[in-house]
Amino acid sequence: MRPGKIVCFGRNYAEHAKELGNEIPPFPLVFLKPSSSLINSGDEIIHPDFGEELHHEVELVLLIGKDIKNVSLEEAEDAIIGYAVGLDMTLRDVQDKLKSKGAPWTLAKCFDTSAVVSEFRMKKDYKLSLNETIELKVNGNIRQSAKLSLMLHKPAHLVQGIAEKMKIEKGDLLFTGTPAGVGRVKRGDILEASIENIGEITVKVV
Ligand code: ZN
Repeated sequence: MRPGKIVCFGRNYAEHAKELGNEIPPFPLVFLKPSSSLINSGDEIIHPDFGEELHHEVELVLLIGKDIKNVSLEEAEDAIIGYAVGLDMTLRDVQDKLKSKGAPWTLAKCFDTSAVVSEFRMKKDYKLSLNETIELKVNGNIRQSAKLSLMLHKPAHLVQGIAEKMKIEKGDLLFTGTPAGVGRVKRGDILEASIENIGEITVKVV
């Protein structure tokens, strides 16, 4: 399955916005990743050679099941049909340079293998409580660990908010932002991402 687009939200957890020295916006920042950046658990993250600070961002991913535009909160919730754990891999040094120039983040966020997703847990089989723990380990050491309830904007709000600005289509993936604890990974590192009751990812950086 190849999604039409991958919509990513930034600064949706207060502690993460703080650790990067960013203000918390009224609605999360929005950027896109191309579907060509997508890989699955068991694949390898290819460290780009045009950046040094490759960072992990573990995120809840929403799978959209129908085409929507300008919908109620209830319709937005209904449009979410599944969940996965994802990694929004980011070249932080490249992003910082682009940010300082006011330029788009594209090269920091859209490189090949920069979007990792687990298998999907379908909503009909599991009701998300937001009490689930989201976690990321590097070489067995916990780097990020939080409850999904720390999200400032909950899944249905994100879907409703973005669907006011652009059409959201069946098959689109939404990355909902990362909790605190982002950090650098190097070639050879093993990343294990998980969301309790949702899914798991194991990938190696090469
Ligand atoms: Zn992210």
